[in-house]
Amino acid sequence: MKIAEIQEEILRLKKEKNICILAHAYQGHEILEVADYTGDSYGLSVQASKSDCEGILMCGVRFMAETCKILSPDKKVWLPNPTAGCPMAEQLTVEELRELKKKYPGYAVVAYINTTSELKTECDVCVTSASAVEICRRLDHDKILFIPDPNLGHFVAEQIPEKTFAFYNGGCPRHAAVTGEETEKAKAAHPGALLLMHPECRPEVVAYADYVGSTTGIMSYVEKSEAEEFIIGTENSIVEHLQFSYPEKRFYPLSVALTCMDMKVTTLMDIYNCLKGQGGEEILLSQDIMDGAEKCIRRMVELG
Ligand code: SF4
Repeated sequence: MKIAEIQEEILRLKKEKNICILAHAYQGHEILEVADYTGDSYGLSVQASKSDCEGILMCGVRFMAETCKILSPDKKVWLPNPTAGCPMAEQLTVEELRELKKKYPGYAVVAYINTTSELKTECDVCVTSASAVEICRRLDHDKILFIPDPNLGHFVAEQIPEKTFAFYNGGCPRHAAVTGEETEKAKAAHPGALLLMHPECRPEVVAYADYVGSTTGIMSYVEKSEAEEFIIGTENSIVEHLQFSYPEKRFYPLSVALTCMDMKVTTLMDIYNCLKGQGGEEILLSQDIMDGAEKCIRRMVELG
């Protein structure tokens, strides 16, 4: 089958079965083309929860499909490729977090949304990269234990100097791999380009950026900017999507390291097979996990 033929079959099957397809922005463009909604993980889950579809296919990684299930408990949710995990979301276990909490008594535990639903049951509130600063600012607590990404945590802490922060030494292996040296090289190669970066990159690298924000923030920045050239300091699919949206502008990847293979493991054939009932995994969570994680997410909505 050719790509266009598979896409056509996917569109036919999802309509026939009343299934909504979500595609995270780090998926390839051929997957975005068959999706009902595209964007950041939390926004996608909210959109799907408001849809009258009977089932949801989350093209992204496992924690995203779990968030989807928590916000749409009455719908069936599938992860088209069950091996699609996120190393950052899965790098801290519940037991390790309990030990960490003992070291920081009196601290509010703030979890990046990129965590497993099981881990969220042990946290006070979760945040997205777009809402992290505002939510940490609005929390009653003066002391915050930020997990699992210390880079996003430092970015938040810098903007709220009146609060005390502690961090877990984790993070996104893709964004954290970008070096200052390659950032200087990219800037020298494209002196007229603006550098847009995700706060999951290390603080010393983020210091070079003209704009720092979430994936959605970066895409909106480009939409509003009159600049002609941009170096993109987040997952490399964003370079591709932006180039499709603005063919008259130029977009350059900051680093090859910013290609997330966990995101790329999902293919059109996985989606096709999942829709046919011959692949993928239905996300099933225990009621305890659903309730505990939902509380953590609800707190984010209240504060955000
Ligand atoms: S880019 Fe980083 S945080 Fe996002 S899915 Fe890949 S490993 Fe996880």
